[in-house]
Amino acid sequence: MPHRATNVTPHDGLVARDDRQRLLNQKGVTLWMTGLSASGKSTIACLVEKMLLDKGKLAYRLDGDNLRLGLNKNLGFSAEDRAENIRRVGQVAKLFTEAGLIVIASFISPYRRDREQVRAEMDKGDFVEVYVNVSLAAAEKRDPKGLYKKARAGKISGFTGIDDPYEPPQSAEIVLDTERDSPEQSAARILEYLEQRGYLYR
Ligand code: ADP
Repeated sequence: MPHRATNVTPHDGLVARDDRQRLLNQKGVTLWMTGLSASGKSTIACLVEKMLLDKGKLAYRLDGDNLRLGLNKNLGFSAEDRAENIRRVGQVAKLFTEAGLIVIASFISPYRRDREQVRAEMDKGDFVEVYVNVSLAAAEKRDPKGLYKKARAGKISGFTGIDDPYEPPQSAEIVLDTERDSPEQSAARILEYLEQRGYLYR
């Protein structure tokens, strides 16, 4: 059995979330970008981060590849490890959201249950699911990292879309179509959502 902490009590500070949000002039939120590999998650995330910064808003990207090099470097791609990967990332996103940041989390996060668990851990309105939709055929054609080719050749196993399932969101707050819209258009739609829902204070 792993060691579990007991007698842990959170300690309230003298500064509240609202104070930080006023300081940053924004409401903390996690934009959870889910979709197939090569759907455009990272491309769009980078654009959204830059557009927000240009507006004087603080955003921060959490990305599968980056977190797998550090916090999650002891995890692989089995269903259990994918679940733990997402659980940890969800906790980091939650903390940053409570810190008042606009977190842009781009993770394939193929299993609906794992994403719903992250949502359930967060306050209402703090978790905004962004489905970065693309057909498998189009993703495979883009294949910027050559991963689909390797998966088809049997050099990678358990690859999402090839020999591991992708479960699309059923009620994502934002659905993007990256076969119809350019990355800039998709990023603009996310900005619009944040503006309309009051996440960006004037
Ligand atoms: P992911 O993070 O989902 O794996 P990436 O953003 O790393 O995807 O890769 C997507 C690739 O598809 C990039 O090379 C990007 O330039 C390309 N691409 C082509 N058209 C689009 C589009 N309309 N939206 C997003 N990405 C696109």
